[in-house]
Amino acid sequence: MIKPAFEDVAYQPPAYALRVLEVLEQSGYEAWIVGGWVRDALCGAPCHDVDITTSALWEDCARVLRAAGITVHETGTAHGTVTAVLEGQAVEVTTYRVEGTYSDHRHPDEVHFVRDVREDLARRDFTINAMAYHPEHGLLDPYDGRRDLAAGIIRAVGDPRRRFAEDGLRVLRAVRFACRMGFSIEEETHVALKECAHGLEDIAQERIGQEICGILETGRIGWALHHEPDVICSAIPELTDMLGFDQRSTWHAYDVMEHTIHVCNAVEVFTAGVASLHLRWAALLHDIGKPATLSIDENGFGHFYGHPLLGSIMGKRIMGRMGLPTSLTDRACALVRYHDNPVRPTTRSMRRMLALLEEAAPGHALSLAHEMIILKRADAVSKQPKCAWYAVELDKMDTIIWEERRQGAVVRVSDLAIGGRDVIAELGIGPGPMVGMVLSQLLQAVVDGEVANTREALLTELWRSAQEHE
Ligand code: ATP
Ligand code: MG
Repeated sequence: MIKPAFEDVAYQPPAYALRVLEVLEQSGYEAWIVGGWVRDALCGAPCHDVDITTSALWEDCARVLRAAGITVHETGTAHGTVTAVLEGQAVEVTTYRVEGTYSDHRHPDEVHFVRDVREDLARRDFTINAMAYHPEHGLLDPYDGRRDLAAGIIRAVGDPRRRFAEDGLRVLRAVRFACRMGFSIEEETHVALKECAHGLEDIAQERIGQEICGILETGRIGWALHHEPDVICSAIPELTDMLGFDQRSTWHAYDVMEHTIHVCNAVEVFTAGVASLHLRWAALLHDIGKPATLSIDENGFGHFYGHPLLGSIMGKRIMGRMGLPTSLTDRACALVRYHDNPVRPTTRSMRRMLALLEEAAPGHALSLAHEMIILKRADAVSKQPKCAWYAVELDKMDTIIWEERRQGAVVRVSDLAIGGRDVIAELGIGPGPMVGMVLSQLLQAVVDGEVANTREALLTELWRSAQEHE
């Protein structure tokens, strides 16, 4: 089973990993590099964390590594894992093991340490992740992972139904690896994914959130929604109603899910595949409020009044329960909230949009404004062909936003040329909410282009409005 030469591997294991292998072997144990490093090295991908699997029990492993002067942290000893640190690099070293039954579809009830590395490879999820490498013995590849890697296939190790039933998270991992590597999913594995997708119900939301972020980061969520809708909709059940949802509109060529797939793909095209994570989340969720807001007018046309607001509320709920960072959620949901606001290629319209975005995601208005244009452009080209002209208008808007930036855009009260102290001194009022209200009004006037953002102009406006209120 051991295959010879491995010379064609683009990356050789780093010296610190080889040192761990050497120490374990000199002490009479077996040790192999396993999992992600082997997979990525075989396809020439950049260096990856090194995981080592060994015949040594974790206590023995820790003992011999320490005796060789290597720092060892007991990071997961219940599962046989210790972390060796050398040359400032961490290497996880795990005893050969198999997993017992999974009565909760999440965690194995127990792990058993075993003597043969092949048994350890058998418990791994996909053939491309179930290879072990040793600099002298070569590649150990009992499931033909290398063949699947070359063919671009994600295939479960063993019976896919059983493997997905054991651990529900594997269905999302399958999609994440397929997206990350641009692979397809082998037919039997694909059928099992559909059947077992509901197993995600038992998985912690935080872990689902991490996997969905992992999928979004590949820029291929559109592929995932198209090919594995059951998996993605089980991960985020609120997406389910979008599947096949007829928009009953002359503006739309696609149902809500098809439209969303086009928007996700278009965002990647317009950003050359380096869209931010919050923009990707926004593309995924931008129309999630549509199914619940459909109304049909007297001519039989569909409308979705309030869908951006509902979408942003749903987005906050979804991303919140996944425990994703607030700054990510706020930015994504600000884009969802305002993606359908009418905007025009005028300075005033752009300033209003900037102020709204700043309120929804403080500190991020300027970057979000450019991303809003990208989202709107993606939205426009994913409707009927007759909507595509709007993309040209959006180009003009983007230019205006750049111009605003050049001039030092005013998007929040603290950008004004006067501050709270000036308001207190000039109006002779005490500190309190009134000061904030006055500043907000001044901000509004600057945003609307009624007053210039200079100290002189703002003080004049302050006096003018104070007299008006007397
Ligand atoms: P990544 O680049 O995403 O870290 P990786 O292959 O290193 O990829 P990890 O999640 O770090 O993935 O896991 C390391 C290895 O452990 C995998 O390659 C796989 O062999 C195994 N593995 C991890 N999670 C599971 C799982 N849920 N079920 C079965 N095997 C798993
Ligand atoms: Mg890893």
